[in-house]
Amino acid sequence: SALAEAKQAYVDRNPKSFSRHQDACVAMPGGNTRTTLHNSPFPLTVVRGEGCRLWDADGHEYIDVLGEYTAGIYGHSHPVIRAAIDKALDHGWNFGGRNENEGKLAKLIADRMPSIDLVRFTNSGTEGNVMALAGARVFAQRKGRTRATKVMVFHGGYHGGVLYFVSGGSPVNMPYEYVVAPYNDIEGTKALLAKHGEELFAVLLEPMQGSHGCLPGDVDFLKAVREETRARGITMIFDEVMTSRLSPGGLQARHGVIPDMTTLGKYIGGGMSFGAFGGKREIMELFDPTKPDALPHAGTFNNNALTMAAGVAGYGEVYTAEAAKTLNDRGDSIRERLNAICRKAGVAFQFSGIGSMMTAHATARPIKTAADIASSNQDVKELFFFDMSAAGIWIARRGFVALNVMIGDAEGDRFVAAVEEFVSARKALL
Ligand code: PLP
Repeated sequence: SALAEAKQAYVDRNPKSFSRHQDACVAMPGGNTRTTLHNSPFPLTVVRGEGCRLWDADGHEYIDVLGEYTAGIYGHSHPVIRAAIDKALDHGWNFGGRNENEGKLAKLIADRMPSIDLVRFTNSGTEGNVMALAGARVFAQRKGRTRATKVMVFHGGYHGGVLYFVSGGSPVNMPYEYVVAPYNDIEGTKALLAKHGEELFAVLLEPMQGSHGCLPGDVDFLKAVREETRARGITMIFDEVMTSRLSPGGLQARHGVIPDMTTLGKYIGGGMSFGAFGGKREIMELFDPTKPDALPHAGTFNNNALTMAAGVAGYGEVYTAEAAKTLNDRGDSIRERLNAICRKAGVAFQFSGIGSMMTAHATARPIKTAADIASSNQDVKELFFFDMSAAGIWIARRGFVALNVMIGDAEGDRFVAAVEEFVSARKALL
């Protein structure tokens, strides 16, 4: 089949990556430490990145349109971030004390994200979500909502490896009781809220589901969840780990739907390990150590000097409000061009998303619900990945794209041309 041939060509092209994979298998399960990067027959090993380009162990060059699943918004070795990290390195980085940049980064975030009065840092988006849930639960208890022990999430939601609902749930999820609601289904969600409202301390959702195929939340749906949670005293948490890039103040500002708490991650730490949770003063003050009964939130690397320095430079100087507009406009324009190519060819292939984030789907159904995403032809999606790899386009196996600020017109055109070539070469299969 075409897919088997494309896989074989990938194997033939990448002997050094295969050998690195075998080395990794000696001491890591399946040679893997990030399930997302698992890739059959084997994942490629990256040896270098510069600007918007990557090079693998076999010397192939790629245009990076994956952007480290949104964490790599600055491309590779961005000079402003590089300078900030160099400076931080000169001053040392394990202080066991506060540093000069953490307050600055917190202020930058609080100034831009409408829902955030106060914020705390973690080392990952996962941890940000874990802490937001813990805080929301105690908040409910202290408000006297003692029956509120459950959390509502949505089918297809991804909030980290221990808060994973893409296929409904996972055996390693945090041991909360979950009410899993249907995303973008106002009536279905309202019914579950009516049934379980008293038992819910939080509703956690992505305003656009990222890992689950860049499925944008309908604004009416998000507004309905906002109204229902407000009326019932349930803490609404937006996971904007990926989507905060979609406007200067995140997708919440773009849509005008303001949650009680927000979690962040990915690029805001300048491309270093990062996560955060923040929200209304009343909730976040639970963590104020000067207050009686303050909740503990520790973490050796929460304020690590390299992340804080890179974060202030990246979020403050590089990904400014203007840069956010430019990047998302570029994304909208590229996605429109890609969809125009697919429409013109009359194929069941399309790209969903908002701004600089998008995902390829091998289906003709409009992408509105989990069922639309599930209707995608998986073999075609895989073929797309292998064809992109052969064409020198670095993309996620699931067809996910997150543009970075180093991508210019020429690289955008090359990506569009590669997709056009795929559509024409594989038309009979699409
Ligand atoms: N939330 C969302 C929406 C994500 O996409 C991710 C990661 O992909 C996470 C949380 C988890 O973040 P991290 O991988 O930094 O733990």
